[in-house]
Amino acid sequence: MEIRLLIVDDAAFIREVLIQIAKKAKISVVGEAADGEDALEKALSLKPDIILMDIVMPRKSGIQATKDILAQLPLTKIIACSTEGQESMVVKALEAGCCDYIVKPFDVNNVIKILQNTKIAQKPREGING
Ligand SMILES: [Mg+2]
Repeated sequence: MEIRLLIVDDAAFIREVLIQIAKKAKISVVGEAADGEDALEKALSLKPDIILMDIVMPRKSGIQATKDILAQLPLTKIIACSTEGQESMVVKALEAGCCDYIVKPFDVNNVIKILQNTKIAQKPREGING
């Protein structure tokens, strides 16, 4: 089953790193967003299975964006991306509904493992034989 991933980070180079990691994991990146407001809009239009969500971003934080997205798309799996030393942010992200978290700088194998272990919601299949 194809996993559809949305990547959210205000730093373009971090989004690029995550795109390369997703490619390695054979997961399709359906979109990118550069702040929490953009993340909400893209989540609603693209309906990704998984979102990699930066926490500290302009316009709207990853924590608020997580709450807003889950209020409308409760089955979305959101993985928080925090920076080393921001443990209190991780707690807030998990309280907001994130299912897991990864820490920058990224350990590529760990990110792949977390993406592959994330249980995505089953969607109705299209076509007779799926
Ligand atoms: Mg940031």
